[in-house]
Amino acid sequence: MVCEQCPVRCGTDRNLNNGYCGVSKIKIAKYYLHPFEEPPVSFKNGSGCVFFCGCSLKCVFCQNYEVSRNLRGKQLTVSELADVFKRLEDMGAENINLVNPTHYLRDIMGAMEIYRPKIPVVYNTHGYENIADLRLADTFVDIWLTDLKFIDGALSKRYTARPDYADYALPAVKFMAQKECVMRADGKMLKGCIVRHLILPLAAYDSVEVVRFVATLPGSVRLSLMSQYTPFGDIQNFKELGRKITRREYERVLGAVRDCNLKNVFVQDFDSAGEKYIPHWDY
Ligand code: SF4
Repeated sequence: MVCEQCPVRCGTDRNLNNGYCGVSKIKIAKYYLHPFEEPPVSFKNGSGCVFFCGCSLKCVFCQNYEVSRNLRGKQLTVSELADVFKRLEDMGAENINLVNPTHYLRDIMGAMEIYRPKIPVVYNTHGYENIADLRLADTFVDIWLTDLKFIDGALSKRYTARPDYADYALPAVKFMAQKECVMRADGKMLKGCIVRHLILPLAAYDSVEVVRFVATLPGSVRLSLMSQYTPFGDIQNFKELGRKITRREYERVLGAVRDCNLKNVFVQDFDSAGEKYIPHWDY
């Protein structure tokens, strides 16, 4: 059957070929208890991340380039993926965190039918999503953890394969923002929506627009501002991406947070940039 499970709608028969996202069958690079998600998600034991290979967005600066573009990983069946969920739960994971799941949604739904985790399920997406697919995912997702990478189409045109990123991501984020927020008394998130944004060099003006957009969403939505950008990936033709962000860029975005009076915000320290946030891949 042809695949249309991301906005690219490339129509590939994934029983026969790899799609535009680079993959056909489920392939993962790693699963483990990840300590570096937002505090209510990693919480005490770590978030049970499953890192899926392939991606239709193809950001030049991808921090997980080896996995998203070079497709480093191991193929699994649907039932083996269900076993991974169970294993992470047995390891004490705070949640099952599906990292970059969009192009495997039907397979993940199959795995959820075999084993439905008793812990929250996190859908950790780049935000380039069809609403119809998000409605399907909403049947098993507890926490939306979504990027909002850019609003300016000039940036998505320059840095990704999808110039129409914001045309899909803005409605998608609005959809995800409707999720009821449930926080346990000790600070662990059980349900809700976190919008994540990586501040890029020379693009603080767009980060300000992202902050303003998030300010229009329901107040329960958390904004996670990331300053960890580290030159990485296929960036040799993008001179501006060859450095970390400056303190001035960082402060400009924080100024927008204050101006918008946003309260539910996670902010990485300015000194957070570094490769320590990039996992070592298993396969
Ligand atoms: S998920 Fe992959 S195969 Fe399916 S439409 Fe998107 S790019 Fe094509």
